[in-house]
Amino acid sequence: MNMQATTDNLKALDQAHHFHPFTDFHDYAERGGRVFSRAEHIYIYTSDGHRMLDGMSGLWCCNLGYSQQGIVDAVTAQLQNLPYYNNFFQCSNQPAIELARALVEVTEERFNHVFFTNSGSEANDTNLRLVNRYYQLQGRPEKKLIISRNNAYHGSTIAAASLGGMKGMHEQTNGLDYVHHIDQPHWFEVAGLDETPDDFGRRVARQLEEKIDELGEANVAAFIAEPVQGAGGVIIPPDTYWPEIQRICDERDILLIADEVICGFGRTGSWFGSQTFGIRPDLMTFAKAVTNGYQPLGGVMISDKVADVLLASPGEFTHGLTYSGHPTAAAAGLATLKVLRETDIISSAAANLAPHLQSRLRELEDHPIVGQVRGRGMFAAVELVRDKSSRERLADKSAAAVFCRNTANELGLMVRQTGDAMIMAPPLVSSVAELDDLVEMLHKALDLTA
Ligand code: PLP
Repeated sequence: MNMQATTDNLKALDQAHHFHPFTDFHDYAERGGRVFSRAEHIYIYTSDGHRMLDGMSGLWCCNLGYSQQGIVDAVTAQLQNLPYYNNFFQCSNQPAIELARALVEVTEERFNHVFFTNSGSEANDTNLRLVNRYYQLQGRPEKKLIISRNNAYHGSTIAAASLGGMKGMHEQTNGLDYVHHIDQPHWFEVAGLDETPDDFGRRVARQLEEKIDELGEANVAAFIAEPVQGAGGVIIPPDTYWPEIQRICDERDILLIADEVICGFGRTGSWFGSQTFGIRPDLMTFAKAVTNGYQPLGGVMISDKVADVLLASPGEFTHGLTYSGHPTAAAAGLATLKVLRETDIISSAAANLAPHLQSRLRELEDHPIVGQVRGRGMFAAVELVRDKSSRERLADKSAAAVFCRNTANELGLMVRQTGDAMIMAPPLVSSVAELDDLVEMLHKALDLTA
């Protein structure tokens, strides 16, 4: 039977036929979710007319909100001109070429090449292929072990999930056996009660050096990390962490891969998280906000150190995706970069919005169930606890989920739950008044949950 979707039966059809990512299928089939039908500025609307302030910029991607007509126009024009052609077999297209050039211009000087994918996960798979090729071309094929961190998120393909450090994903993934993990720089979760953030930052960074020694420097290819772990809970590393990691990568013969899928394009207060934290990666993963989320696009920025080796020897790099450098996605990326370069949105969010957001959020630390508020730039996490001094979490893990449901359903605010933390990343085009609304709604939701 051909069943027509109407506003009334959308939810039922969704439950009947649609398996969603990162969703309990059993639960969803019974309870269903929300169906969104439109969005404007920083607000999203369900098909039954409920309005929510989007405190997550979609899934950390709509940094410029939902009303960027310039991106819509660029995509529309591109669809009319050249809706698709591939970049395989000595072919290219103008938006992909121009986007590659624009990315080279907005990233650090040592990045002069880009490889396009459709997503962050594929970009991290690509990193593994590039790293392998880099060492194979130098006659060092044994250098293939990768070091990552517990509770990292690098995507959901088998390779990207193996790079990530999320326990639940590892349990369901028959992952790669050449990825090793060290602790995450999550002071609130991992440090002892009497350890200062600075001491903890140095100690946990030095685990990288210990792991390299344990595995043998001759076997280790690269270390991968997000400048700030986003999906893991907006984990802001102590100030001592990244300088120590950078020192180790400089002294040891391994590549540093910065996964900027969330941090890139303004989220931490600079164009890239690497700049905020003084990191000098050899490879840099991007996705999400590169098109403001309007089209799927990701990729890897490749430093001269790696590119020079790849360019020096003939022989095909046997990797690519049908939609690598898709003209329509590239047009969306170009239009997004145009907005970011021609306005002061990144610097103004860093100078005006972020300090306001961060200081208003710190007010929540007085609330009885808030153990820590942490954040940098335009993202933050509020950690829920039962006991502030012992950092004992709420025994009922679902309290955090209830919190999210309360904020979304009753108050009209979309934030996300990770473990016992509420995480948020509002658009960089929010106003101060809208950020105040967000904090007020969080406060009310805390009262409802306590
Ligand atoms: N890397 C990081 C840091 C991410 O946060 C994500 C997604 O949230 C990914 C990679 C995967 O990106 P995608 O979902 O586009 O595959």
